[in-house]
Amino acid sequence: MRNPIFPKPNQQASENIVNVAKAIEVAIAPSVLDSHSNDSLTNAAREFGETDEVKVEPINEIQFPVDLDELHPVSGSAIGDLMDKGFDAIAFYKSFRHINCHPAPGYWGIFYIKPRVALLINEMMSDTGLAKDECLDSILRFLYGHEIYHYKIDAICLQKEAFSNYLIYRPYRNYVNSLSIADWYEESLANHYGLAALESFNSHRGFDAYEANQVVKQFMNELVQMSPGAYRLGLDRNVISLFGPRGLLAKQIVQGCPTTNAISQASLKLLESTFFQQLLLEGYKNFKGDRFLAAELSLTFCPVNWITWYKNGSAVYASKTVPLKEIKEGFIKNYLGGEQKRLTDHEYFKIDNGELVKVPNGHDKDIRLYELKNIIEKAGMQNTEFWAARNLTNKWKKSVPREVIKSAR
Ligand SMILES: [Zn+2]
Repeated sequence: MRNPIFPKPNQQASENIVNVAKAIEVAIAPSVLDSHSNDSLTNAAREFGETDEVKVEPINEIQFPVDLDELHPVSGSAIGDLMDKGFDAIAFYKSFRHINCHPAPGYWGIFYIKPRVALLINEMMSDTGLAKDECLDSILRFLYGHEIYHYKIDAICLQKEAFSNYLIYRPYRNYVNSLSIADWYEESLANHYGLAALESFNSHRGFDAYEANQVVKQFMNELVQMSPGAYRLGLDRNVISLFGPRGLLAKQIVQGCPTTNAISQASLKLLESTFFQQLLLEGYKNFKGDRFLAAELSLTFCPVNWITWYKNGSAVYASKTVPLKEIKEGFIKNYLGGEQKRLTDHEYFKIDNGELVKVPNGHDKDIRLYELKNIIEKAGMQNTEFWAARNLTNKWKKSVPREVIKSAR
């Protein structure tokens, strides 16, 4: 079956980018490849760092669609993860410059974290009632739009490096890593183009035209709304203006470059200005926009992969989970006004809408996904609402019990 989401892979062109980048970077700073820093590691990769084994499955026309039934997420929430860390907790971009670094040495490009995509699909199905295929499709599209933006910035930097004496991308990434999540403007734009990928009306160089239905758009909009720091600015109307995230991003890109004299300061000012001009050429809501990229750096050459971390032979979710104790004492008793009903082998609580909720056994453990799902449904809530309320109430301590009582769904 032809994969309907990603452009056709071109391994040779992808390898060529690695070689070109290496030649350019080494010419500017001969020792650049000697540093064994961890800067290439995304937050997600850091979380999984200690597990045993990593499996990468490049996505091509043969291996798509992938069978997500092989994964049975038991605990955790991808929505909970992305509220903490943004969409890069579900998928991430690894630069062609870092191809030999961890995770997944030998690979670069976009990586979908398979167990987390599976979790998010489950949560989306439960909130929207849509079929699995449609959830898979729209999540992959959104994340592609988001992550390809990170490639785009990487590639523009390389183009600038080819004509300047500066290393641009590495210092820029180091600089951004030192800032708080509220200032990660590249993420605002990445989310903007993630949403744009759900309504791309024209086909373009290997991308099909596509428009998601209203339910999908609304769900993904909510997720962006719930995202932390600058990720949330993906919904900001200013996202494409000079004074919004795009102008700030252009400033940040050159911020890491050293300025030793008046000439270098003036040239950096020009560099910032041309970055901004080029970023403007993407246009509004057009994640495929790449007119400013050399043909050799086309967006279609950025590889796309699944990635799964394993420990002792089983896939690691390392996903956001909630302790049972918090669900019982916080969510059920404080937020839902739960009253203990009877003690058999399980505890039951009658909550504000009259429903009877069963609390699983266990003391120190985390609640399992299906158990949490049952309780959330009895409370008449969506997964997204649960996580938003958890944040708003500071884990069920403020503004409790809830004001609006909802019937079970
Ligand atoms: Zn991102």
